Amino acid sequence: MIESGQMPTRLASELRAVRSLAGRFVDPLIDLVLPPVCAFCGDQHVAADSADTSHASIRLCDGCIEAFLRDDRDACRRCGQPVGPYSSDTTKGCVICRPKRQRYKEVIRLGTYDDELRDAVIRCKNRGVEPLAGALGDLLFYEQAERLQAIHADVIVPVPQHWLHWFTRPHHSALTIASQLSKQLRVPLRDRLVSKVRRTPDQSSLHRSERLKNLDRAFRVRAAKRIAGKRVLVVDDILTTGSTASEMARALRTAGAKYVAVAVIAVVR
Ligand SMILES: [Zn+2]
Ligand SMILES: [Zn+2]
Repeated sequence: MIESGQMPTRLASELRAVRSLAGRFVDPLIDLVLPPVCAFCGDQHVAADSADTSHASIRLCDGCIEAFLRDDRDACRRCGQPVGPYSSDTTKGCVICRPKRQRYKEVIRLGTYDDELRDAVIRCKNRGVEPLAGALGDLLFYEQAERLQAIHADVIVPVPQHWLHWFTRPHHSALTIASQLSKQLRVPLRDRLVSKVRRTPDQSSLHRSERLKNLDRAFRVRAAKRIAGKRVLVVDDILTTGSTASEMARALRTAGAKYVAVAVIAVVR
């Protein structure tokens, strides 16, 4: 048996190339001969030495975990935006979101869309980065386990992408993150329950008033009977203005969902 420390550099780098091409399907096989590396920086996976043992199973090194969690400000429970240290209970919102109408009840997120976390979320849209999206999903779970469990979700639903997007965004990161949360929370994943029936222009290119209009009836719940009375956790990689999540929540509530919460890796400030 080859010990990982003795593996020729060339073989190790070829195996890593295979891993990045084939993603999760060959990961368990490659892990037998190659120690896992950090899914973000590629360094040797050293989380087992971490002081926080809950992070030991996440495929990220200590340095990257620290960078992703650098912003330690509290977040508004309703919209996910950072709030000051003296903010009171934000269950009903903060100064930013209280005047706004939103169809979901709460946002659970890892951090804000800045620095390394921003880079990671952008990278997750590429092919072959399922391990990174999965690792971010794991980190979100370990950091926010209490709140995620308190939702008592019956189903987890990723924000769908229109089929034409498979050409420009080959990796549907929301689906990978949702699938990881589904495993961790042991809540069924329903990735075909909601479909995006209309291709819409990129939200960031539109004015605020145009954004909700842009998404009007963009989502369709396929089996309304299966969602009636259910508590739903909607998962996406990023929350920009909240319009997409709001429109998803509207479609789910119209189909009879009792409660809709949103979990994302990052919120745009
Ligand atoms: Zn790293
Ligand atoms: Zn808020």
